[in-house]
Amino acid sequence: MKILVSNDDGIFSPGLIALAEVASQFGDVMIFAPDFEQSAVGHAITIQRPLQYHRVKMLKGFEAYRVNGTPADCVAMGLFHWGGADLVLSGINLGSNLGNDIWHSGTVAAAKQAVLLGVQGVAFSQVINGEEPSYEKQKPYIAEVVRLLTGEHPPRLVNVNLPKNPTGIRWTHQSVRAYNGKMVESQDPMGRKHYWFSAIPLTAPDENSDRWAMEKDLVSLTPLRLSLTDDEWLQNLATEQASPV
Ligand code: MN
Repeated sequence: MKILVSNDDGIFSPGLIALAEVASQFGDVMIFAPDFEQSAVGHAITIQRPLQYHRVKMLKGFEAYRVNGTPADCVAMGLFHWGGADLVLSGINLGSNLGNDIWHSGTVAAAKQAVLLGVQGVAFSQVINGEEPSYEKQKPYIAEVVRLLTGEHPPRLVNVNLPKNPTGIRWTHQSVRAYNGKMVESQDPMGRKHYWFSAIPLTAPDENSDRWAMEKDLVSLTPLRLSLTDDEWLQNLATEQASPV
């Protein structure tokens, strides 16, 4: 099995190597990652300048390339270079990607880009608070997830979140409860105003959601789809139209 590994934290992120190490239990691994951090760039692609990629040596023996582009660019570039792959793994992101984070996440976008190009994609993100994670507790669970998702009839796109001390694995739904994209005002050393965008959850997580799983120390697997159509609304419209006036 050919497994392409990418991320949005950049080629030297410890999470990238941890994920590549687990992936190597399942097949041949190649790494294509951004040459600098691209967190929260979402599914941006580079079209106004050319892309280049360069071999990076000394990356724990993995064949690895850094790309002067976004996470989505890296996956497209890697699949081009390798002539396709059977699976694309993205991460392990330094920080969770829960609920509405999915809209901004470069980690999830790399997995989405894989699916757009016809390859199964899985995004991995891990809760962190300050210190650099070791991944030792998470690695057996990541292996279990890869085993599960390369079995019979897996979803094409899965967003995985890993708690600090995992005790089990659950299928979850994306929490879409109220979020506040809050602007925090501050000032620079010259006294000029500047702003930090920070998103904070406003409500408690709903049961069986990705956010709920983190609170329960469970590895969260959320199957995603690329269609954004509001099927429920269309269905209601069809019912209304079919009913007598
Ligand atoms: Mn990131």
